[in-house]
Amino acid sequence: MSVVLKPLLPGSTLGVLGGGQLGRMWVHTAQRMGYRTAVLDPDAQSPAGLVSHHHIHTDYLDAAGLQQLAAVCQAVTTEFENVPADALAQLAVTLPVSPAASAVAVAQDRAREKAHFVKCGVPVAPYVVMDTAEQLADLWADAANAAVIDNLLPGILKTSRMGYDGKGQLRVRTREELNAGWAKLGSVPCVLEKMLPLTSECSVIVARGRDGATVNLPVQRNLHRDGILAVTEVFEGNVPEALAHQAITAAKAVAQALNYVGVLCVEFFVLANGELVVNEIAPRPHNSGHYSQDACDVSQFELQVRTMADLPLTQPRLHSPAVMLNLLGDLWFANANAEQVEPAWHQVLALPGTHLHLYGKREARVGRKMGHLNITAATPQAARAVAQQAAVLLGLAPF
Ligand code: ATP
Ligand code: MG
Repeated sequence: MSVVLKPLLPGSTLGVLGGGQLGRMWVHTAQRMGYRTAVLDPDAQSPAGLVSHHHIHTDYLDAAGLQQLAAVCQAVTTEFENVPADALAQLAVTLPVSPAASAVAVAQDRAREKAHFVKCGVPVAPYVVMDTAEQLADLWADAANAAVIDNLLPGILKTSRMGYDGKGQLRVRTREELNAGWAKLGSVPCVLEKMLPLTSECSVIVARGRDGATVNLPVQRNLHRDGILAVTEVFEGNVPEALAHQAITAAKAVAQALNYVGVLCVEFFVLANGELVVNEIAPRPHNSGHYSQDACDVSQFELQVRTMADLPLTQPRLHSPAVMLNLLGDLWFANANAEQVEPAWHQVLALPGTHLHLYGKREARVGRKMGHLNITAATPQAARAVAQQAAVLLGLAPF
């Protein structure tokens, strides 16, 4: 059965829950396409709120705030994973919301997320769920269960909810460290995952329309430092073709089984034996997809606008090899005196094919995502060479 969609055309108002950098870049894109925008975020200085037509600064679950958003918008999306799924569910009573609260709720809970991957037949890291102290004690009391846990050590203990950028995670090597680590994380529901020998990490961004049409960005290769994305590289041959195909197929299967509408990022590990293992999903555009702004004919933010407005989805094309460097607040403190100094943008922008994106955050803080630098070039070698030069100028480690 084919679904006939009535698109929301430019001139309509589109809304987003969350006012961070992802919301800001979405606002810029929606406005470029002729839409009006509304942002709901409690922070009066939120990066997206500052550039939007409407900025409602209330809590995500504030009834009056949600009502106001619903009154000015014809469709709503989210840019922040920890927006309560309930806020999306409330909005969905009166207007189209994508992604749906049910899909966001899966992405917000690592245990549900992993169960979903298993259901889709996509390989995951071996894991167990640890919800309560009693459950943990029971696991240890049973010899067979204890053996299962021992087999997951050394492992990573991750809180089921509210984790991001490596926060809410601890590496644990022994039974004692596991017990102590669980208490340290606040004795909240967690998953324990086996530490896997990663050779690399990659991710795929898919966009799925209300009619089920699905397109994807090319597979991105990602380098993390201290649990935070540092570098993304995208070009032909960057990831072996068979692996890229497998990742795209898996990402589409994960989206389809959620009956997903919107932009979804699926993160993967590549193991030493060449195996691909899914890590997690983000129900929104993702840091690893930022290169698409300058290297693809359709960016991840335009895909988000198109899916929520029921506009046609065309398969994006990578027109330039690209490297993205994440710009964390650390860069502002890279000098020896630990004083805040603006990075050498003028020198960086003297390099060919550099595209600077800063998020308009007033204050630089260590670990805070302040912006990113996209580098495009005619060849992968040229893009990498410029990126390495830019990294030196910015005080970033080579890659
Ligand atoms: P984000 O939301 O920013 O992607 P996160 O806090 O949700 O991060 P994860 O993606 O689970 O955290 O993990 C962060 C990084 O830690 C991974 O990208 C990977 O480098 C490493 N890591 C996580 N789990 C494992 C594992 N089981 N084995 C080896 N490395 C891992
Ligand atoms: Mg991650």
